[in-house]
Amino acid sequence: MPLFKNSLHKKRAYLRLALYFISFGFVIALLSSLINFRLQTNNIDTAIQQRFESTRVSTYNQLSEIISQLESSVDALAENPLMKTYLLRPSQLSLHNLESLFQAAAAAEPLFMQVRFIDAGGNEQVRVERNDDDSITLVTNRQLQDKSARAYFQQTMQLAKGQHWHSKLDLNREQGQIQIPIRPTYRIATPVYLDERVAAGVVIININAQPVLSNALRSEIFNVLMIDREGETLAHFDDSQAWSRYLPERESVFAQQPALARALQGSADIANNYLVEGHYALDITQLFPNGEGLLLLFAPKQEAISTLFRSNYLAALLIAMIVLLISFPLSWLVALIPAKLQNKLSHALSEVQHANSLLDRHVISSHTDTDGVITDVSQKMCDASGYSKQELIGKTHRVLAHPKASRRNHKLLWQTITEGETWNGELYNRTKDGRDYWIKSVISPDLDQDGQLIGYTQVAQDISSKKALEKLSVTDTLTGVYNRRKLDQLLAEESDRLNRFQHQFSVILLDLDGFKQLNDTYGHLAGDDVLVRVAGHIQRRVRQVDQVGRWGGEEFLIICPGTDGKSAALLADKLRVYISQQEYSLDREVTASFGVAEGVVDEGAAHMIKRADDALYQAKQQGRNRVVYQDPDQARQSS
Ligand code: GH3
Ligand code: MG
Ligand code: MG
Repeated sequence: MPLFKNSLHKKRAYLRLALYFISFGFVIALLSSLINFRLQTNNIDTAIQQRFESTRVSTYNQLSEIISQLESSVDALAENPLMKTYLLRPSQLSLHNLESLFQAAAAAEPLFMQVRFIDAGGNEQVRVERNDDDSITLVTNRQLQDKSARAYFQQTMQLAKGQHWHSKLDLNREQGQIQIPIRPTYRIATPVYLDERVAAGVVIININAQPVLSNALRSEIFNVLMIDREGETLAHFDDSQAWSRYLPERESVFAQQPALARALQGSADIANNYLVEGHYALDITQLFPNGEGLLLLFAPKQEAISTLFRSNYLAALLIAMIVLLISFPLSWLVALIPAKLQNKLSHALSEVQHANSLLDRHVISSHTDTDGVITDVSQKMCDASGYSKQELIGKTHRVLAHPKASRRNHKLLWQTITEGETWNGELYNRTKDGRDYWIKSVISPDLDQDGQLIGYTQVAQDISSKKALEKLSVTDTLTGVYNRRKLDQLLAEESDRLNRFQHQFSVILLDLDGFKQLNDTYGHLAGDDVLVRVAGHIQRRVRQVDQVGRWGGEEFLIICPGTDGKSAALLADKLRVYISQQEYSLDREVTASFGVAEGVVDEGAAHMIKRADDALYQAKQQGRNRVVYQDPDQARQSS
């Protein structure tokens, strides 16, 4: 039987499903990593922006701290009590003390290149210098100079107490020439006040700006450069391009990138994180209030961008790998369930098919629509009826019914099933080639999902042989009419109906005349033949409802339901005449005598037969070939 698929087939179904799911997982992995990559790429600008934010804050804070520290240092010198002592009581000692203070200050701060005090007349009073070897030198009296003409002196003297003068960020000069190697320098000065009115001099420090700048310009992600308002470079991440302001052979940033110049000049307010031509700008004029308009420019390093891109690639790849790693085993697992389900289904299907084919071959079944028109029949039904499926489909069950099948039964059947009930019963049918057969049938209505009637289903079994046995058990073997046992049963039933429902009935008992002699003359077989013929004559002459049986020997009993005694006597007489007129292949006539009795309520079957027998006896007594019926009314009248 090819119904149960082999294991190879199962495996293939499983593999196919697994493949579907894996492909699905692969597509999901691919899509998710693509989307992720796309998102990450869009995020690169944001990532750089975020990195600029943190760089900007840290750079600004760092510079701000250094500047304010330097200013505090200058303030500390200007407000030192030794300074006041010297100014109030200038002496060799107080000057020496002031010189010591300046020397100590210079030694303490490695950024200090020069620390000076210039008096109100513009003359240097104390001057301390840091040498190339980092040692500190106090410049002698003879080398002190008059700086009264210098702008820094004049401007600082104009400042209020606590205010600071800032120099340009430039390169140190010796005797008017830029010192080589270049030395970026910055100066901060503050006035010295004894009282609030007039400045008593100026403290000024020269600072080595190189370490400050290289610190500020150092960044992993950005190339940083410092420009002034004209786009001239001061500090530059590439040393060979720095200081275009002072080294004439070097080009300004604006000359190199005119678009950058336009962008910067075009925006009145350069926001601190404003993106100018791929550069982020940080305004530091507040930190260096020297009128130069200093600005730091941050351009993302190509390596940094590449690194970001690379990490994005890696992230996308990683996500794809993870999704794939998860989806592979998951796919196997997920495929297992439907594969098992499919196996179970095909198993169940084959069992159903098997059961169906068994039913088809061994059970009579049919489907009809609501009008009883056949829509499907089983093979067994075809076998039983002798019709093919094509001959039955489209017809009603009427084609199968025996002409003598009970109409009452048929009516009851339809009444039951149209009321939605299941009908159980026996149906008398005839095959296509005219043979009788019986089926025991169950017919039930078919409902659709909404409970609407859509037709009827019949399931039946052939009970012809059972019916034949049944018939045999109630039939007299010689004559074919009912036997004594059946007659007893019918009598009991009719008597019962009479008692319960006053349903009238009569019996006719007949006995052939001179049969002993007939046997003796013509032989026992001829006698048998006469019995058979007479039984046939009676059977044919009575009504459908009348029951005929052999009471015993050459006596027959006819039960006539719904018939009074008079009518039964009339019937008896008709039978008497008919029997006597028939030809029996004997050279003598055959006659019978009849006793008729009408049923009386609560009398009992035995007593009724006794009365019929008495009537029959009288008929014999009166000369035979006659009917005797004792009408109860006449009997009452005569008595
Ligand atoms: P009558 O009834 O007219 O008084 O006379 P009878 O000869 O019929 O009398 P009786 O009832 O005494 O005889 C019945 C005879 O019928 C006896 C028996 O030989 C015969 N008989 C009974 N059963 C059968 C049967 O099955 N076959 C044949 N051939 N004869 C039978
Ligand atoms: Mg007899
Ligand atoms: Mg007789």
